[in-house]
Amino acid sequence: MARNKFDVDETLESPFQLKHLKRALRYISRHRVKMLTALLLSSLSSISALLIPKITQWVLDVAVPAKDTAMLGKMALLFVGIILLGIVFTVIRSRIMAYVSQEIIYDIRKDLFAHLQRLPFSYYDSRPAGKILVRVINYVNSVSDILSNGIINSILEIITLVFIVVFMYSTDPTLATIVIAGLPLFVAVILYIKPRQRKAWQNQSNKNSNYNAYLAESIDGVRVSQFFTRQEVNLSIMARLAEACRTAWMRAIYISNTVWLSSETITQLVFTVMYIAGVYWLGGAIVSFGVILAMGQYVSRFWQPITNLANIYNSFVNNLAYLERIFETMDEPVVVDDKPGAQTLPAIDGRVDFDDVTFGYEEGVTVLEHVNLHVRAGESIALVGPTGAGKSTVVNLLCRFYNLNGGRITLYGEADGQAYDITDVTLNSLRNQLGIMLQDSFIFSGTLLDNIRYGRLDATEDEIREAARLVRADDFIREMPQGYQTAVSERGNRLSQGQKQLVAFARTLLSDPRILILDEATSSIDTQTEKLLQEGIQALLKNRTSFIIAHRLSTIQNCDRILYIGNKGILEAGSHEELMAKRGAYYELYTSQARDQGLVET
Ligand code: ADP
Repeated sequence: MARNKFDVDETLESPFQLKHLKRALRYISRHRVKMLTALLLSSLSSISALLIPKITQWVLDVAVPAKDTAMLGKMALLFVGIILLGIVFTVIRSRIMAYVSQEIIYDIRKDLFAHLQRLPFSYYDSRPAGKILVRVINYVNSVSDILSNGIINSILEIITLVFIVVFMYSTDPTLATIVIAGLPLFVAVILYIKPRQRKAWQNQSNKNSNYNAYLAESIDGVRVSQFFTRQEVNLSIMARLAEACRTAWMRAIYISNTVWLSSETITQLVFTVMYIAGVYWLGGAIVSFGVILAMGQYVSRFWQPITNLANIYNSFVNNLAYLERIFETMDEPVVVDDKPGAQTLPAIDGRVDFDDVTFGYEEGVTVLEHVNLHVRAGESIALVGPTGAGKSTVVNLLCRFYNLNGGRITLYGEADGQAYDITDVTLNSLRNQLGIMLQDSFIFSGTLLDNIRYGRLDATEDEIREAARLVRADDFIREMPQGYQTAVSERGNRLSQGQKQLVAFARTLLSDPRILILDEATSSIDTQTEKLLQEGIQALLKNRTSFIIAHRLSTIQNCDRILYIGNKGILEAGSHEELMAKRGAYYELYTSQARDQGLVET
């Protein structure tokens, strides 16, 4: 089966870069007091736990032989005290760190989301949404954990290790040396296996990301899939991605088990050697029974911090790659952005000039070449032509969703008549004066009222109803169970296409844009509803400059000027009558449509 964009793994292997770490540390620096407190509490509880083997030793070697019940009582109290202290400190530490890691997640996500919202369309054109989601959700979670708990734990493990060594040597230097002699073997095993383990987990994370991306897109497009009865094909793609996930997971688990098994084997080996030596010396009364027991406990604790440190290091290296992906997203250039010192576009009069505009989405493929167009204030312009000719591109450029490759687009101030190149003004002030209606109107989860208010947040309820009335949306909304308060889910699944479009019309009317763009806005509405809508559209168009892209030519005959887009530019321009009289491309298109609809004799 052909590979698709979901099969493309991200590069998760990256050389250590100090700049990423430094940048990440900025997210934790404001939590340093909390983190230091957590570290202090954890260290206290770890070090006091190391006293337990010592207590065992005293009990066995001193208190029991002397039958000193008072001392035994004291030791028991100390024992219980240490355990209780450990529990209390651990609970406090977890609470502090849960808070800190959530704050870090919040801060990174906030920065990421703020940037994602500014990224141009071209960024989203080339990426599955699921992969972006994985970065914002999974990578951030993972990175936050290593930045908070990972840092504390690595310091804590080092402290614990030092104290274990000190306690071991203070208990019995010879046995301690035997234990430490096992260390090189352990380190060698770790150095050999750990890089393989890391790679395996990175691979697993990649496969998981691919799987998530496919899942996200499939849920989004479930209606289309069902319509085209793609379930079987989709299932097999899903099965293939899931299989890749499973294989990667099994491999990662297998290697992790090997690490665990080898560390256990070495621990047991060292244990055995130490016990044999201990028991041998016990016979010669060189070491006591208490000492052997205490040493046994230290040995079992000794390997834990080392294994933990190796794990933290691994996870740290993985997370550096995640960090890099996160920062890469944050650094993704906002190629469509306000110029430094961009001015606010004042209220415009509705004139639009395209001068020598050239543009292509991808390098080497131009969609529009040297286009010139001068639109009067209040003029209604229809864009027609074959699919893929560049009609939507014309309006995308006017809204500055993409930057031009050449030429300029100019708007004019209402009060001063001054010309403003759209790249010299802020995006907000530009887009605030443009109203865009797309073929597929996006309905947000919330009430119908909220959805219309999206166009202008300070609109009163009366204004909202008035807007809905004008575009003929009021009737159906009032028939809904809770009227304007009816909740609609994301994408407006409860509404028909036509109803969604009516809501979007009301939303646009409310925002009162100077220039209105209707991109195939009525194509999903049946002819009956469209007739009803025409009145609403007329209300919407009144006193506004408009660009209307319509598939059905019957709907744009009344426009002031019709532009036939083709051959990377404007092939024909004029009123319906003029273009019909010309008997050119528009005439051909119109008559073929009319013929299809049985309106003219063939
Ligand atoms: P129309 O609206 O006339 O159907 P468009 O303006 O949407 O056509 O598209 C014009 C051309 O640009 C088409 O060849 C289309 O494939 C291409 N195109 C449109 N959008 C993109 C995009 N986001 N990335 C790359 N190419 C695109």
